[in-house]
Amino acid sequence: MVARTGIGFDAHRFEKGRPLRLAGVTISHDRGLSGHSDADVALHALADALLGAAALGDLGKFFPSSDRRLAGIDSRKIVAKVVAILGDSGWRPDSIDISIIAQEPRLQPHVSEMRKQVADLLGLSVSSVSVKATTTDFLGAVGRGEGIAALAVANIVTSLPSKRESTGKSVQSARIRKEPSGSGAGTKASRTKVQAKAVSRRKRSRVLKKPFAR
Ligand SMILES: [Zn+2]
Repeated sequence: MVARTGIGFDAHRFEKGRPLRLAGVTISHDRGLSGHSDADVALHALADALLGAAALGDLGKFFPSSDRRLAGIDSRKIVAKVVAILGDSGWRPDSIDISIIAQEPRLQPHVSEMRKQVADLLGLSVSSVSVKATTTDFLGAVGRGEGIAALAVANIVTSLPSKRESTGKSVQSARIRKEPSGSGAGTKASRTKVQAKAVSRRKRSRVLKKPFAR
């Protein structure tokens, strides 16, 4: 199994009359964030981190703000689509850490619901998803309450055996690494098990792809 890490950053300014959406949770506040989509800054940072981990580019490449079909889109659909894109490239999310940087409102009461939302979205357990809230101690634009920023780190792992592992000499060593003491290491049966797992992950990716009907 191969693991990689990606980082994502995003920031949006406040705008009156819009709902505040953070990490898939609607938070009661007198202002929301301005943006082309629902402006969920935490999910945008997360999606960017996932793409970055797979070196597939950035969010703007797949979701250009010029695309009118994306106006007001629920950012959970953006993340679901990114997970599907990663799945097509043989990757799946493994663990996530998100920091939301906001002077206001107080986010701590919403953190556990945010973790649950992100975990559900990525098909991970809540214990693999960290969401943290911090302030800038009144420094800068965020400190003046002009907007909210978010940072995310995504760890991803291979969801399919790589081409190199499916043929040739490296197969043996790859299998031994996966199943160091198993009696079936390297056998046809153990390989079928690995492939079955990979297929079920691909199916999950397809399920996630569905809600994003363009
Ligand atoms: Zn954004």
